[in-house]
Amino acid sequence: MAELKQKGVNPGLAVVIVGDDSASRVYVNNKKKACEYCGIYSEEYALPASTTESELLELVEKLNTKADIHGILVQLPLPKHINEETIINAIRPEKDVDAFHPVNVGKIMIGNFDFLPCTPAGVMELLDDAGIDLCGKHCVVIGRSNIVGKPQAMLLLHKNATVTICHSKTANLKEVARTADILVVAVGRAKMVDEEYIKDGAVVIDVGMDRDENGKLCGDVDFDSACKKASYITPVPGGVGPMTIATLMKNAVTAAIRQSEN
Ligand code: NAP
Repeated sequence: MAELKQKGVNPGLAVVIVGDDSASRVYVNNKKKACEYCGIYSEEYALPASTTESELLELVEKLNTKADIHGILVQLPLPKHINEETIINAIRPEKDVDAFHPVNVGKIMIGNFDFLPCTPAGVMELLDDAGIDLCGKHCVVIGRSNIVGKPQAMLLLHKNATVTICHSKTANLKEVARTADILVVAVGRAKMVDEEYIKDGAVVIDVGMDRDENGKLCGDVDFDSACKKASYITPVPGGVGPMTIATLMKNAVTAAIRQSEN
């Protein structure tokens, strides 16, 4: 950051939100607060749900060429009439701080990347910080979304773990999960994973951000039950969520560094 500022460059992040999804609003506010905290310049574009795909593309195009904006984040999900893939593909890869563009996804696959997707990278940071060695360990990832499950599996593989990816069609999910030394859960179902899914002493990472029957924020893991078996477990809130935002800030700075070098 200090080096960038010496060059007269202040990292700039544009956050685009379309519609009035309350969860997305919370995420965007948290991202804005984090930018303020880190000294990253941010611009918010809050568009109505009636925004057309071509209007959104026009905005992305404008941000692609805006010199004081180094990173563009379009908050997902988008309203149904807008094709998310079309929008993601329109973001210039060097400004794609979410690492969702196919160019960045391909680079992650190869293991030679500029940005890491924020949530899986946050999980890796947590594991590293806790001193958990992944080499040769069996990691089970429940969930295969492009945003979390698939890139998570790839990052664990890059650290020499043996990785199994599970999803809604996996047979004998509990049995498979119980073979995990490290279990990463990203399914979007409140408290689905309890102690029956967990081997004694396993590490459990809960990516979920769900609401329980009382509307309270909770994870995909039943924390109290899982604690009976896990040797290490991340809470919700306060576990993976803040790490996701921290990685976004890191990606915004990386984007500014790369663009200032060109
Ligand atoms: P998603 O796109 O809905 O994907 C969910 C995945 O879970 C799918 O692969 C689905 O399988 C699988 N799944 C659903 N029900 C299942 C079941 N009963 N058994 C086994 N697998 C099942 O969700 P996502 O975007 O990956 O997000 C997952 C969770 O993480 C959500 O709670 C989300 O809010 C949270 N999240 C948190 C952060 C953070 O910063 N902490 C960031 C992103 C997401 P199929 O593919 O077969 O349908």
